[in-house]
Amino acid sequence: MSFKLTVLGTSSATPTLSRRPSAQALVFKNRTFLLDCGEGTQLQCLKYGVKMFKIERIFISHFHADHYLGLMGLLSTLALKGRTQEIYIYGPEGLQELIETQLRLSEAYLTYPIHFIILSMDGTHTIYEDKFLEIKSIPLAHRISCWGFLFKQRQPYRKIDKEALKHKNVPVAAFKALVYGRDYIDESGKVYSAKELTYGLPMKSYAYITDTLYMESVAQQLQGTDMIYHEATFLHELYENAIRNFHATALQAATFAQVAATKQLLIGHFSARYDDLQPLLDEARSVFPNTLLAEEGKSYET
Ligand SMILES: [Zn+2]
Ligand SMILES: [Zn+2]
Repeated sequence: MSFKLTVLGTSSATPTLSRRPSAQALVFKNRTFLLDCGEGTQLQCLKYGVKMFKIERIFISHFHADHYLGLMGLLSTLALKGRTQEIYIYGPEGLQELIETQLRLSEAYLTYPIHFIILSMDGTHTIYEDKFLEIKSIPLAHRISCWGFLFKQRQPYRKIDKEALKHKNVPVAAFKALVYGRDYIDESGKVYSAKELTYGLPMKSYAYITDTLYMESVAQQLQGTDMIYHEATFLHELYENAIRNFHATALQAATFAQVAATKQLLIGHFSARYDDLQPLLDEARSVFPNTLLAEEGKSYET
């Protein structure tokens, strides 16, 4: 297991009694990332055991109310509880102004620093990377600037292939180079190839794609992603509605998953008109069988 996703909200513009606005907690190596922060996200964290203090980075897909209204409440609670650890928030232009205006008007202050990272609509960008993880922002097609996010595991080391190693007399000194993917040349000039003697471990990945028209180019970019969350606001019979509102249908979400050749599709961001979500699931599964409904409080692993 590499990524553990806990869904905190799955409703579109207006909440229902059973569905809250968008938010997801993604845990990777004991680090927590929050994807969107709809109204009431902190309550959902409490309810479903997401440790708010552990949140390291928050990603706001766009400035529609159902994706960010919970931000100030969450940040305030963290301050009231005495957080001192810095937090990183990624989002649209105006993010800093949004937070600072609210703080100024309520004469409040936070007990920890915030780093604001403003996203660009000009192509896909790596917005965070370290030895083990890479995060990308991907511009989507919505009424206002909006981004999807791709989380990709990284592994700096390769595994030694014990079978390939047999009878090769590989010097001990070579291993250090080989596990980092570098060839090793001994004193006699003999080359020990990292490609032949080692193999890379499969890297897990997760993509969060919400509030967008169907974008085949993005699906192609996400080829082989292990798990994809894609919005499915409407059934395809409301296709016209979806287009008008810059949203996608369950059928389109499934087509997206098919083009991306993902292993697992999660659909969410359901219109409040649907009490029963089964027809959305059935529609998606007719194209991409490995589809699940994103359900609040449930966790999904890659
Ligand atoms: Zn939305
Ligand atoms: Zn929206």
